[in-house]
Amino acid sequence: MSDGHFKKIALIGVGLIGSSISHAARRGGLVDSITGHARTAETRDTAVRLGLIDTAHATAAEAVQDADLIILCVPVGACAKVAEEIAPYLKQGSIVTDVGSVKESVVNDVAPHIPSGVHFIPGHPIAGTENSGPEAGFAELFDNRWCILTPLDNGDAAATAKLKAFWQALGSDVDVMTPQHHDMVLATVSHLPHLIAFNIVNSARHLEQVTDREVIKYSAGGFRDFTRIAASDPVMWRDVFLNNKEAVLEMLGRFTEDLTDLQRAIRFGDGDKLERLFTEARGVRQGIVESGQDTAAPDFGRHAGANEPASE
Ligand code: NAP
Repeated sequence: MSDGHFKKIALIGVGLIGSSISHAARRGGLVDSITGHARTAETRDTAVRLGLIDTAHATAAEAVQDADLIILCVPVGACAKVAEEIAPYLKQGSIVTDVGSVKESVVNDVAPHIPSGVHFIPGHPIAGTENSGPEAGFAELFDNRWCILTPLDNGDAAATAKLKAFWQALGSDVDVMTPQHHDMVLATVSHLPHLIAFNIVNSARHLEQVTDREVIKYSAGGFRDFTRIAASDPVMWRDVFLNNKEAVLEMLGRFTEDLTDLQRAIRFGDGDKLERLFTEARGVRQGIVESGQDTAAPDFGRHAGANEPASE
């Protein structure tokens, strides 16, 4: 069985996810050296200063040379261009993976560029925070969170097993599914909730009868928890919605129907219905706490300033 160790890892993108992979890989002794590329010199310099990468490269092509594991940690919309650029420089037998929040579009964008003899195995850790950049990462981000791999139909089983062992050694549990199924599941548990949070926060901003000051002052009434999700990186989320259009629109259609149902129950004073629906929803929360994906502690166990490995 593979131990998940790689001699040389290349991180293309050293933001929240790339830097957390570096912290967790170093913690587990999973790698001898890490090279990295980011778009700006500022991020590259910060990544070297923090010890996230041993060498920084101005191009992705330079960063991947001689690497055994290449991890694309850039926004989903940037994957095609990066894959095209690195393709001629990939070592035979190496593994290319990604961490993108959408899988079918990444498969379509990246797979055609990967040369034979190189293993492309798409992946997505279901772990994150609303923070971005190389300073946002921490080693515990993936502990007890799920990582989903969506291997290609003709993929190499041994390479998939090695990548699975790597993610397990980073602290994750690993599931395998098709890219299409991944995109529908994530539209439900992540993309739609983020869309709703972005929308609720903006709706509150545009109110005339309630001032911005009141919205902030009384935010502990529920609004505050939506603002944390809505503080997530706008570029990352733009790319998620552009690339998971069908699944998100399907979920949005269902959500709108259910919302209309609630609207009618309120309009016609149907208290029994409201109580039944709220009771069912409450049960989902209990299931999440029981499965160890969140804590039942007051304030969700989160404290001001603490990292919150809870959202994606
Ligand atoms: P992030 O903190 O904003 O970091 C993005 C990194 O990619 C930065 O190093 C950035 O470099 C680099 N980058 C951006 N565009 C690039 C380009 N065109 N070419 C080369 N490098 C580029 O983002 P993140 O949160 O780590 O997200 C990265 C990926 O992880 C996304 O695909 C996202 O869907 C996925 N993901 C995110 C979360 C989450 O909660 N945030 C969770 C799971 C998966 P500069 O800093 O120099 O611009």
